[in-house]
Amino acid sequence: MNYILRNYAKLSHFNYDQHGKDWQVNGGKQQSPISLIKDKAVLSKAPKLSFLNYNKTFSGPLNLINNGHTVTMAIPPIDDGRQPAICGCKLKSLYKAVQLHFHWGSLENKGSEHTINYQRYDGELHILHQNSAYKEQKEAIRFPDGFVVLAVMLKIVQGPKIQPRALNQICSEAAMVRDFNKASTFVANFTLRDVLTGIERQEFFTYMGSLTTPPCSEVVNWFVFPKHIEISKKYLQNLWLLTDERGKPLVNNYRNLQRLCNRTVYYRNASK
Ligand SMILES: [Zn+2]
Repeated sequence: MNYILRNYAKLSHFNYDQHGKDWQVNGGKQQSPISLIKDKAVLSKAPKLSFLNYNKTFSGPLNLINNGHTVTMAIPPIDDGRQPAICGCKLKSLYKAVQLHFHWGSLENKGSEHTINYQRYDGELHILHQNSAYKEQKEAIRFPDGFVVLAVMLKIVQGPKIQPRALNQICSEAAMVRDFNKASTFVANFTLRDVLTGIERQEFFTYMGSLTTPPCSEVVNWFVFPKHIEISKKYLQNLWLLTDERGKPLVNNYRNLQRLCNRTVYYRNASK
């Protein structure tokens, strides 16, 4: 969620050496990421999530940036100027997709932020959506309904059954932004729907949580898909080669698991 950090210059000098234990943040009782366990979640009867303009072509090229914490891709409007967005379920507003980024491990370690049924995955994709009721991020970050994040686990396999060609293209492009602050522009041959290829989008965990990077504000309604996306090592390993602002390898960029405290995690089945 480093998209927000531009407004918090002082907080932007953090690293993952201790996975967040050393961050100066006001941790409350609704922090992320957490351990997600299907058998312990409450069955949700919420209506379906609606995905708007997720299947439409982007109006312009895409921009990838190494911000020293992750690689981020801003989500441009589609051809008619509108933004891909989500609504429905129990959301009270329209949430516009603004940015996506990744968390990952290294050659030796898995690096997803959430765990699902006690399992950590090789990587985790976050698609950040901002409440359309707020004009700017710095306004949205002050309200508990400021953001929605869709999260998907990534698993390295030899020969994925479905090739995630959008993720393959983004990860290939990441080789162009190895150094801190490097940016690269490329033309997408995919839509935002293709980024979630093979995922059953109506089956998910959902809970109230926080940004997983400083200032870790408790302003995120999380939707985490239990099904993962398979990806070849040759693509995901491009992320392991990035470096941070110290020139050190940018690897294992995930925050430690946080306490559930007094929260309910809901699980929605696709058939409902
Ligand atoms: Zn994230």
